[in-house]
Amino acid sequence: MTDIAKDECIFCRIVAGDIPAEVIHQDEEILAFRDNNAQAPTHILLIPREHVSSVAELDTSQESLAGRLLLGARSVAESEGLVASGYRLVVNHGADGGQSVGHLHLHLLGGRPLGWPPG
Ligand code: AMP
Repeated sequence: MTDIAKDECIFCRIVAGDIPAEVIHQDEEILAFRDNNAQAPTHILLIPREHVSSVAELDTSQESLAGRLLLGARSVAESEGLVASGYRLVVNHGADGGQSVGHLHLHLLGGRPLGWPPG
């Protein structure tokens, strides 16, 4: 991707450290930080460092990255003390899915009973 596209992606800018975020986990492939418009007492986003615009754009060669995001979410849920009470993982894609940021992210939500089905 071009530098211009990276400059325009808010999550790429968080990865680059250009805009602040409350980062709670990072490794060479993924980053986890608190959502700045939390929908639950715990609301954390897990993203790949690499720009992938959506789950729909994940390539089969990125299988290990996809697994890393899921296992990263499990690990953060443990460190946030959510295992006993429960939590939800959400990935939105496209307009009907409610995706508002075009960089793949996994929502980790917990800390209160979450309704089902979602609205
Ligand atoms: P989605 O609607 O699935 O694309 O989710 C995007 C999420 O990113 C929303 O929950 C936003 O509140 C969150 N968000 C957007 N900008 C930031 C930011 N600068 N720091 C933390 N979270 C953000």
